[in-house]
This record gives sequence, C-alpha cells and structure tokens, in this order.
Amino acid sequence: MTFKRVRHQLYRQWRTLLLEDNAIRRYNPAKFKSLTFSINFKERPKPMAIQRTFSIIKPDATRRNITGKIIAKLEDAGLRVVASKRVKWEKADAEKFYAVHAERPFFNDLVAFMTSGPVVLQVLEGENAIALNRETMGATNPEEAAEGTIRKEFAESLEANSVHGSDSEENAAIEIAQCFTEAEIVG
Ligand code: ADP
Ligand code: MG
Repeated sequence: MTFKRVRHQLYRQWRTLLLEDNAIRRYNPAKFKSLTFSINFKERPKPMAIQRTFSIIKPDATRRNITGKIIAKLEDAGLRVVASKRVKWEKADAEKFYAVHAERPFFNDLVAFMTSGPVVLQVLEGENAIALNRETMGATNPEEAAEGTIRKEFAESLEANSVHGSDSEENAAIEIAQCFTEAEIVG
C-alpha cells in the first residue's frame, strides 16, 4: 500500500472518530487497535527470505575425501542440502558454468582443474542462503579467508579453493537450472 493511501485511510478513520455526532458512542477501541496493529505490521522489519543457492565441492576436496567435513560446515551454518549429486564434468560443462570468466587469464586452468576429478553439485536452502553460503565458504583467496571458514580450513590454493557458491539470486537460479531439474530438488 502506498504512503498516500495509508495517509488517506488514517484521515478517514480519524474523521469517523472525531466528526460524527455520536463519535463518542461509536468509538470502538477494538477497531482503533486493529488500525494501529496494521500500521505497526507495515513497519516491522521484513523476515529474512528463504533462498536457494548453488554449491560445488571442487575436485581438490573430492580427491582428499573431505566432502563430509565440508557439508558438515554448511549444515552447521544453517544450510540444508535439498539436492545433491557427484559427477565428473566434461570440458563443455565447466566452460559453460564459468563462461562469465571466459576472458580471464585463469580461465583455461580453471576449466582443467574443474574437470580434473569428481565434483559434488548441491542445492542449498535456508534463510538468506546465498550470503550465508558465501560467508561460510570464506574469501576466494584462502589466504584472505576468515578463521573457521571452509576455504580457510580446507583450500589448497586460490584456484583449488574447495568450494563454489552462487554470488546472487540471478546466478543461483541460472546455476541450479544448469545442473538440476525441479524434480531432483526435494526441499
Ligand atoms: P568465487 O569462487 O569466490 O566466486 P570468482 O568467481 O572470482 O571467485 O572465481 C571463480 C573461481 O576461479 C575461484 O573460486 C577460483 O577457483 C578461480 N580463480 C579466481 N581467481 C583466480 C586467480 N587469480 N587465479 C587462479 N584461479 C582463480
Ligand atoms: Mg564467483
């Protein structure tokens, strides 16, 4: 509801209360209460949105058999795995996934790395899941990652940094759609 409309409604309510001949008799505290409630309700901070995000456990982590440790960190952070599969990516899969980085000098190495072993693809769900997953992962460069994050604890290098996580709602939707059908996601 727009501000103008709220203001108009308030004005009408007050006019009803104050101007009618029998204003006192008709004054209805319950009605008044519901009006103030609806105003407070509008000003309440919005509850956090339940989101889905896309996660990859990268080949450096599958090679070292630490997928369980990584998933435990994600779950401890409040994220829920609602879809999961372990696959070996073809070159074309990795190139498509990282197309946004196609012009970057590390692109070919990144594609080679992402196809060097199995990956675990996951859809994670939770309140504010996109930011929460990124926070739990830590900075791209493990040397800059905060204590307790997945990358700080497990990453081998800037490239072999153990996990991927979507960086926006738009990219989460694109990445999930590349790797899962709706029927494979069970929330
Ligand atoms: P993030 O995974 O944190 O979103 P980016 O989207 O910038 O980071 O990069 C995608 C992935 O490419 C990184 O996770 C990492 O594996 C690799 N990468 C990023 N920057 C470099 C770099 N300078 N040299 C080598 N690999 C890199
Ligand atoms: Mg990224």
